[in-house]
Amino acid sequence: MAELVLIPIAEHKVGDRQVFNTGMSTVGRGGGNDYMCGHCGQVMMRDYDTERLEIEIVYQCGACGGHNLKPEVDAVPGELN
Ligand SMILES: [Zn+2]
Repeated sequence: MAELVLIPIAEHKVGDRQVFNTGMSTVGRGGGNDYMCGHCGQVMMRDYDTERLEIEIVYQCGACGGHNLKPEVDAVPGELN
C-alpha cells in the first residue's frame, strides 16, 4: 500500500468531466492505496485500488472542496493557475 497525492486542478479546468465528491473520506475494499488531496493533504480515499479510479472523473475533496485528477494523468505543470 502506498500513499499517493492526487493531481490538483483548478475548478475552471474541470470542464465537462464528472465530479465525484469523496466526502471526508471514502474507503475501498482494502489492498489498495491511500489517495491524498493535492490541495490540502486530506486523505480522500483509503485502500482504493488504482484501477478503480477513472481518468475521466474529477475527484473533489470533501475537506477543502478542491478538485483533483487521478495521479497517472499527465498534468501540465502550472495548470493549477
Ligand atoms: Zn482538499
